[in-house]
Amino acid sequence: MLSFACHDVGLLDCDCKVSAATKDELLAIVADHALKVHGVALNGTLIDYALTTVKSS
Ligand SMILES: [Zn+2]
Repeated sequence: MLSFACHDVGLLDCDCKVSAATKDELLAIVADHALKVHGVALNGTLIDYALTTVKSS
């Protein structure tokens, strides 16, 4: 399982944590969250950065 937390990319006021079975699934959830909650549309740079913080368990 892969997981991502907004805390890990410096968004300390957001407690959102998401997890998914695959990278593509995780990115889809993160992109949706980023847009709806943070008003940010993910581009390649942001996706690469987000992926560096993804934890797998
Ligand atoms: Zn967030």
